[in-house]
Amino acid sequence: MRTLNQILNKIDSEDELTKDNFKFLLQLKNRGDIDLLFRKAYEIKQKYVGNKTYFRGIVELSNICRKDCYYCGIRRSNKNVNRFVLKEEQILSAAKWAYENNYGSVVLQSGERNDKAFIEFIEKTLMEIKKLSDGELGITISFGEQSYDTYKRWFEAGAHRYLLRIETSNPEHYKKLHPPDHFFEERLNCLKMIKDIGYQTGTGVMIGLPFQTVDDLVSDLFFFKEFDIDMLGMGPYLVNEDTPLAKEFLNFEEKKDEQYLLGLKMIACARILLRDVNIASTTALQALKYSGREMGLLAGANIIMPNITPMEYREAYQLYDNKPCIDDDAELCLDCLKQRIYGIESEIGYGEWGDSPHFKKKNLINNI
Ligand code: SF4
Repeated sequence: MRTLNQILNKIDSEDELTKDNFKFLLQLKNRGDIDLLFRKAYEIKQKYVGNKTYFRGIVELSNICRKDCYYCGIRRSNKNVNRFVLKEEQILSAAKWAYENNYGSVVLQSGERNDKAFIEFIEKTLMEIKKLSDGELGITISFGEQSYDTYKRWFEAGAHRYLLRIETSNPEHYKKLHPPDHFFEERLNCLKMIKDIGYQTGTGVMIGLPFQTVDDLVSDLFFFKEFDIDMLGMGPYLVNEDTPLAKEFLNFEEKKDEQYLLGLKMIACARILLRDVNIASTTALQALKYSGREMGLLAGANIIMPNITPMEYREAYQLYDNKPCIDDDAELCLDCLKQRIYGIESEIGYGEWGDSPHFKKKNLINNI
């Protein structure tokens, strides 16, 4: 049996990036050992993506969704949600604020809709954001499963990164998290279309889900690698009591620490395996620990997505319970984040897109 030090000392070599090694790392229990793992991931982050943290101001523009995922607070069957759609001017004003405050990019996200009015609305909004920032603001979008034509239209309108979380790479597990009319293959196919069109492609999973095994998590890591993704947005599973999956995860309060550490260990393992991709330190970590997002950065992440949605709508966009920062306005969020990021001696990539070095390298190779 090899020791943790033996594994970490050699993990820079491709031969050591084995499923067995990652299973061992994900199962670490001793806090000192876990810290060693984080330190190694941080070292690899510094080497491959540098010390900068990039901001993506996130606008949650609507909580209307045609899907019914068992874990999600804004699923269509949840009648306890006040549904909203932001007006174009509200989205543009948030984007303008991000631009004026030197955020390099924004993320537009909403529940999934594929009707004509929505597709046009997003297309127009993307073009207006490009206009108001002289093309300078980077745009990531996350609007779920769409047709090839829709993805292409939005790409041509100015979005250049797309985040579509696969949630689990195990099709049998996927079936337990979704109703029968949601298909794993369809999601995978969408991810392929996004990549073919030329978006920087992001995906992710939920960590610590009911019915999930450590082998599933290891497979998720290797799925990211084999799919050659550019960005990763993943976080611990958090319960929303208004969802069917909540009854599969009892005594959540007692398991919070475990969920939190598993979320961080997955970030660290992803950094070690994937090296030069962008990895977000998600709000879900902060929901479990006040300093969760900074810890995510110390465990290998390099992206933060501060919420810039108008405050009055944040309460209604709760994918999980007790989401943090719903009462802080964007200015306050920014000040607090700056302090937190300087506190861990990371720089902020003001005004930069902060594209994934992995994506840049691929494009360079393709253009030779
Ligand atoms: S996870 Fe996404 S697609 Fe599923 S119900 Fe929630 S918002 Fe809709």
